[in-house]
Amino acid sequence: MSGGNPGPGDPSGGPAARVAPLLRWFGRRRRDLPWRRRRSLYRIWVSEVMLQQTRVETAVPYYRRFLRRFPTLKALAAAPLQEVLKAWEGLGYYSRARHLRHAARLVAARHGGRIPTRYDQFRALPGVGEYIAAAVLSIGAGAALPVVDGNVLRVVCRWQGFAGDIRLPATRRRVRAFLEGIIPADVPGRFNEGLMELGALVCLPRAPRCPACPLCPGCFAFRRGRTGSLPVKGRRKPVPEYTVALAVIVRRGRVFIQQRPEEGHLGGLWEFPGGKCRAGEWPLDAVVRECREELGAEVEALREIAVVRHAYSHFKVRLHVFACRLRRGRVRPGRPHAWVRAADLGAFPFPAANHRFLPQIAGSAEERTRRRAGGP
Ligand code: SF4
Repeated sequence: MSGGNPGPGDPSGGPAARVAPLLRWFGRRRRDLPWRRRRSLYRIWVSEVMLQQTRVETAVPYYRRFLRRFPTLKALAAAPLQEVLKAWEGLGYYSRARHLRHAARLVAARHGGRIPTRYDQFRALPGVGEYIAAAVLSIGAGAALPVVDGNVLRVVCRWQGFAGDIRLPATRRRVRAFLEGIIPADVPGRFNEGLMELGALVCLPRAPRCPACPLCPGCFAFRRGRTGSLPVKGRRKPVPEYTVALAVIVRRGRVFIQQRPEEGHLGGLWEFPGGKCRAGEWPLDAVVRECREELGAEVEALREIAVVRHAYSHFKVRLHVFACRLRRGRVRPGRPHAWVRAADLGAFPFPAANHRFLPQIAGSAEERTRRRAGGP
């Protein structure tokens, strides 16, 4: 075990004594999760990338599908980006998928296909931040690197009585420094997983199950009745909401879609043309203006086919979706695009919010085709 001083909330002795109950508890209570069955650095890496910003229950089916489709790092490195994004579709934070594939290609090209276990080499790969590096290398390669995620911050702040705002880097640094003092050198991955599991199953945000907790005897928050006030979490800034107008342009039974640039928000996914409404601008006017500016096309908005609200991490959107037709000219898109049958839209990776109105698009396109053919 590595050395360390007893913290303010724990008078019960050295690091080994403090972490032993947690390790025993994890041995008995850990969940049977697919990434804990057959372990490899690649599998651990995929699971940890998915688990960032995503709940375990949500990640499990994605993980299974992803591993079936890309069972090895080599398979992932060789896959087209569109296929990787399609496998990730609905999980959100698509830069994670893009970076993972990019990193797999770099590992194949620069490290002979073997995931590097040296911290500096692994950390230098795209999308590998402190959290991913610590989680993958501690669980998969035995590196004594503490993981600091939301669950761990909550557990440690209550356990040790740390009263700093967990949104502040200084609090994260304090928690990491504390954990560096007690992480066991022989089983660092087990320790990290145990703390995260304790936060997920026992030290819950609103109603911690203290009597069932292995840290209870030395827990500051439990002894002082502070579980309701720790951890301290400052207010988030209110997130802005944008009104966005989208055009579903249908021509000869096909719908126009275009691909977003690879870098940036929702990079590499497909979308319908459109954009934010300006102050005081109606969505109906915005969709015509956006098509003119973005595609050099004059469109007529025929009717609104859906209004969808969606929340991202830093902003919300209210999407007004219009069925449109070209009044004259043609579209002149500046990026990859396609005219596809509405029934084939599902073959392209779209942002989650778009899935909420894809069925209406199929209905709208069919109706227009029927009308053109003179049907009822
Ligand atoms: S005793 Fe309660 S508050 Fe303390 S770490 Fe355990 S669950 Fe959290």
